[in-house]
Amino acid sequence: MAYSRKALIIGAGIAGPTTAIFLKQAGIDAEVFEAWPYSSGIGGGLQIAPNGMHVLAEIGLADELIRRGSIAESFDFYSQSGARLGSVNRNMQARFGQPAVNMCRATLNETLVNKAWGKKMFALYFEKRLVGIEDRADRPVVAHFADGSTAEGDFVIGADGVHSVLRTHVVPDGPRPFDTGLIGFGGFVPRSVLADTPIGQRVETTFGQSGFFGYGFCSSDPNDGVMWWSTQPSHGIDAAAFRGMSQDAIRRHLRNFHAGWHDPIQQILDAAENIVVTDTLDVATLPTWSRGRALLIGDAAHATSPHAGQGASLALEDAMRLSRLMQDGQELGLTFQNFEIERRPRAEKIVALARRNGNSKREFSPTGAWIRDRMLKLLLPVTAKGMNWMYAYDPRSAA
Ligand SMILES: Cc1cc2nc3c(=O)[nH]c(=O)nc-3n(C[C@H](O)[C@H](O)[C@H](O)COP(=O)(O)OP(=O)(O)OC[C@H]3O[C@@H](n4cnc5c(N)ncnc54)[C@H](O)[C@@H]3O)c2cc1C
Repeated sequence: MAYSRKALIIGAGIAGPTTAIFLKQAGIDAEVFEAWPYSSGIGGGLQIAPNGMHVLAEIGLADELIRRGSIAESFDFYSQSGARLGSVNRNMQARFGQPAVNMCRATLNETLVNKAWGKKMFALYFEKRLVGIEDRADRPVVAHFADGSTAEGDFVIGADGVHSVLRTHVVPDGPRPFDTGLIGFGGFVPRSVLADTPIGQRVETTFGQSGFFGYGFCSSDPNDGVMWWSTQPSHGIDAAAFRGMSQDAIRRHLRNFHAGWHDPIQQILDAAENIVVTDTLDVATLPTWSRGRALLIGDAAHATSPHAGQGASLALEDAMRLSRLMQDGQELGLTFQNFEIERRPRAEKIVALARRNGNSKREFSPTGAWIRDRMLKLLLPVTAKGMNWMYAYDPRSAA
């Protein structure tokens, strides 16, 4: 391990800064390189499940994020007309030791980055877009950035997300991200929009004949306190085309798409501003997650479509498990292999689940939607039990 004292980490999303914090605890320095300039307020809302919250607790951030976010006490399902289909993910804190917490992606990111900066835990550089690495025997690994600069380290961690550049080094002819044919729209509305809708701490979600809508509290901020999202089949217009439209045009599209859906969906859409449009991407299984002194983690290794609500928690778990394995002091290649052996089965099981969940948000015939809703009502209690393995995972004690 004597040669593995400095990590180059590519990407300051979720996995990158978290890994740097854990590596620092393990006595390994890290430099983190992010392609974009520093910005706050990016992205929509997300939910961190109990398994991810354990990781945040371990680095002392769970309480702050619970305070700045909103605990989700259940995930409730409805049909397009508003008939209740069932409820899952109740009493998470009591059952799994941490709650599921809704938060703004920006809050999570800022908290991670501020923790690092405030305590000078690692060096963080913005506007450093990785374009390639050199990994030659008996020399440090060299990362090359788009601005012509370079950085040297003992190993490199690709936490650069679904479009990972490091992935093309690790698996040169490997799979590329593909569009699953579903588009995501999302954003925030003021808490006052739900003033007449007593949802409490529930996340409310609706399966339509085509598409899906969800909303729930995500922060105490009165202006941006509710997160919402709509997932729908692309129908020949891709996310990039929507991103080229005005906010009024996107809002009109969403109002038409969700016309006739139960309240308060139209009220949320009326109030929606700064709507974010995302592609729903997936990446086929990679043959390996590492090559030489380069390792992929988070979405770079196992991008998961968002339908299991686990991608961020998996990224957090990866960060903690990797640093725990590095503490064991084994040879770098063996550590990377052990990381993959430990993490791959869980990650792939969750990726497969997310794919299956995505299928219920596609286009159904009226009869097909009716049957799906009945099946959901019947099967939700069983399905809920069948998901416990995902939340019960505790990265502090994982083998
Ligand atoms: C619409 C949507 C909703 C979601 N909701 C949830 C949810 O509720 N719960 C959940 O657990 N997960 C959710 N996910 C999934 C989750 O966002 C991802 O799994 C998670 O962000 C992965 O973390 P990461 O750190 O691996 O990658 P990212 O968070 O994507 O971070 C990658 C970082 O690398 C940077 N980068 C990229 N290329 C380069 C380069 N060449 N050089 C330098 N930097 C680079 C990027 O700018 C970015 O900052 C959702 C995803 C989407 C799209």
